[in-house]
Order: sequence, then C-alpha cells, then structure tokens
Amino acid sequence: MCYKARMNETSNDHAPDGAARAETAPPATPITALEATARSLSHVTEWVFDLDNTLYPRECNLFAQIDQLISHYMVSVTQLPYDEARALQKTYYRDYGTTLNGLMQRHDVDPDHFLNTVHAIDYSPVDAHPELVEAIRALPGRKFILTNGDVGHARSVLHRLGNADELFEDIFDIRAMSYRPKPLPEAYQVFFAKHGIATERAVMFDDLEKNLLVPHEVGMATVQVVAGEGFAHEQVEAWELQRTGADHVHHVTADLAGFLKKLP
Ligand SMILES: [Mg+2]
Repeated sequence: MCYKARMNETSNDHAPDGAARAETAPPATPITALEATARSLSHVTEWVFDLDNTLYPRECNLFAQIDQLISHYMVSVTQLPYDEARALQKTYYRDYGTTLNGLMQRHDVDPDHFLNTVHAIDYSPVDAHPELVEAIRALPGRKFILTNGDVGHARSVLHRLGNADELFEDIFDIRAMSYRPKPLPEAYQVFFAKHGIATERAVMFDDLEKNLLVPHEVGMATVQVVAGEGFAHEQVEAWELQRTGADHVHHVTADLAGFLKKLP
C-alpha cells in the first residue's frame, strides 16, 4: 500500500528541517472532536466528490508529480529561475483556484496544452481500493465528480482505484467549468445547473476546506477528507492542509471508505 510507505517517506525524507515541518504541519482540531459534531447524511441523494487527494489519499503524493510538471511549465512560460517560478505557481494556485487559471489570466496560456503536459504522470502510486469503490457503489442516489483537473486525469485515477468511473453519472471537470475552478461560485453553479442538483439533498467531499464554503452556503452537507495526522511534504503548503474547525465544514475524515461504510 502506498499509504504507510509514502507516509514515512514524506515525514522523514522530504522535510529537511524543523522549520519546514512546522510550516507544513499546522496544529489542527483533532479529527475525532470534529466527527463528534457531525450532522447526519441520511437525507442525501446527490453525492459529489472532488478527485485529487479526496478519492485517493494525499499520502500517495500523486498530485506532487503534477505539481512538479506545473513548476517546469511555469519556468518555460515565465522564463523565471525555478524558485521564483515555483513561488509564482503557488501564488496563482492560491489566488486563482488553479495555477492554470492564473496562467490563462496572466500569460494567455493554451489550457489544452497545459492540461496535456502536466497530467503526463505515473499513476501507479494509486492502489486499487475495492473497499472505497464498493462503499461509493452502495450509496443511494446519483454520484458525480467535480474536479479542477481534467476528465482524462480523472479516468486514469478511477481506473487505478478499480474501474470506478462507471459509478459516476458525470465527471464535471475544469473544461466543463470553462476553466473557472472551485472555489469560485460559478464553478459550482454551472455544475448544479447542468445536472439539476438539489443542493439541500446533496453532499460535497473535498480535501480543501475553502472548496466547501460555497457548498455549505447553498445548503449542501460538507465533508473534508484530510491527510492522516502528522502528514507533511515540502511541496504542500500549510493552507492546503488547513483545518480551522469552521462552521462550513460539517464532517472531517481521514478515511473516506470507512466514513462512507459507517453511514446509516
Ligand atoms: Mg482535491
């Protein structure tokens, strides 16, 4: 399993000093405390899942591969030294929702060229996860993926999990969002409109706290899928792992399959 092996790798090998660890592993409310306040999902008939770091564990570091390819792409577009290009990448990711959106707004980048380039990765770190596939299959109602990645990338991940793409009515991706990503409200609104989502009977699963704000505001239940306790990685910034215990996060889990199986 990539889970434990990658945990050790990221905890020890990629955190060169104490300062880096402190930056990437912020103190957070214990998951168990947040689960104790969770609301029921018995009303839910529309199940909406993010893809990256949600349907596979962050510890697989799959997104870290994409992140590296994006950094090289940033260098080629901006002609900046690597470290400066990388800092700008993180700024775009934070401020524009995706680095791609920043590159399109600021550098007129062709989105198809970008998406094809940065998704040329090795998917083997994603293990088959029959328990998760069966847990999603058993959920009552419609299931969707809402991702800032693209359909091809999503299908590659779902194939690795165990031919899971058949479980989802649609993979609503960054192209379907017209490259206006989560957490921008329009990303969700075009998705809701296309599929007639009844938000009061829907739930959103996402690893990023900020991506759950709009779902909460429109009446969806929300679940933040987090990395295991102590996860740290030099490519991951503190805000990406943020758990503030804010009201718009209704549930928190580090084990999506276990969470789904425990639902009444
Ligand atoms: Mg994600």
